[in-house]
Amino acid sequence: MKSEILYYSHNDLGGGLDLPKQEAQETLWTPEQPITAEVIWRINHSDRAENNRQDFNANKRAGKMRLVKGCIDARRLRAMATKTMFYDTIAGGGDLQTVTRMINNNGIELVDVESHHGPEIIGESPTECGGRDAKAKQVLSGNIDATRGNNLDAYITKDVKHHDAVIQAYLTASAVAKLTEKPVAVTAQNHRTGEKKLIAVMHKKGRDLSIQTAIPDLSLIYGDGYIPEELYAEGIPSLNLKDVQSDTVRAYLEEYDDYLRSLQPTQAKREEYRRTHTVHDPLLMTLTTDIRSSGITKPHIFDVPGSIVRLSAPRSRKLDANQHVRFTSEDKEKAWAQGRYVISHAAENSGKPKMPFSSTKTVFIATPNMEQAIDLASELATQDFMLRWLLQEDKKVIVGQMQAGYINDIAEMAYDISYGRITNIQFRG
Ligand SMILES: [Zn+2]
Repeated sequence: MKSEILYYSHNDLGGGLDLPKQEAQETLWTPEQPITAEVIWRINHSDRAENNRQDFNANKRAGKMRLVKGCIDARRLRAMATKTMFYDTIAGGGDLQTVTRMINNNGIELVDVESHHGPEIIGESPTECGGRDAKAKQVLSGNIDATRGNNLDAYITKDVKHHDAVIQAYLTASAVAKLTEKPVAVTAQNHRTGEKKLIAVMHKKGRDLSIQTAIPDLSLIYGDGYIPEELYAEGIPSLNLKDVQSDTVRAYLEEYDDYLRSLQPTQAKREEYRRTHTVHDPLLMTLTTDIRSSGITKPHIFDVPGSIVRLSAPRSRKLDANQHVRFTSEDKEKAWAQGRYVISHAAENSGKPKMPFSSTKTVFIATPNMEQAIDLASELATQDFMLRWLLQEDKKVIVGQMQAGYINDIAEMAYDISYGRITNIQFRG
């Protein structure tokens, strides 16, 4: 199933980024090959990755970047990646501290708080966001267990505001808009087609917060007033682009639409894209502190929607003298809670094709310091869900030192697993 996506995406769609002709992707990786440290190294050091990094840096210097805050879901189209920083968490929840620091970066001109969903159904709340589904289950069952450390329930209880994906994005954007004088867009992406609707634009100037919104009645989204039948009576409410007051947001979404059109030139390809995006089944999970999307630093595989699930590690901005990013224990708990969601499904569905995460056989941890990446990989391996996944033969953890989008050290972890527990951890350089 994977090879189909990759085949047409790379050769016909260009994977969304420019593919130099002399660098056929077969020489770097083929879908039949496992993803090894060597493969990741090779694609990070390809001409295409180098071009991407240069474009990214030029756009950042010119103040032409956008910050997209959304879900980790691999199926989301991460468009215009050389002009975009992505901050991805489950259901786009939590952690406004890291986001605030990113927003106030001079390179950023706007923020897009994006929800994602499958097919749109009139009168119903959009579905297919796993984090949103878990929140809905929690709300419906009333079974909220936020007491145990790094479980997903705790994350969802604290960090996901609403079990409706659109409202979750709307409420998150409302909080983000108070933290910046840059325009904040609320959008919904159909991950089957890549199409995106603009729901609202929020813009603070001094003490005034102006809001242009397509939601017909705001009482439908706050408190007990939530009535999906009314909110979605005509599908997901959206603004007409030509009526959008913010020039910055309008130009961004027009560019997005042009990009999408350039990616899916024929109806047949659009149908294929829809078909292959029904199940959330990425090849790799990455935990990274790098602000560039995986499509920039690891093209040829990971610029294809559906191929990678990327957890943005919450972190403080400054590096210490040893090039260590500071992770608090709370940061790590949040990362493990989200990792649990992916890895426990991957362990459960291993060997069951077409099930969510059944192809997720590799974890890649990248931080600016190798020692720290190894420490994180060692700590991750002590989690029960991770141990169960590692006991399966075809699974692999890779650690890397990544600075400014360059991988300058990489290794595969070797866990010695005896009696269902890890006794010794080494790494192969
Ligand atoms: Zn999601």
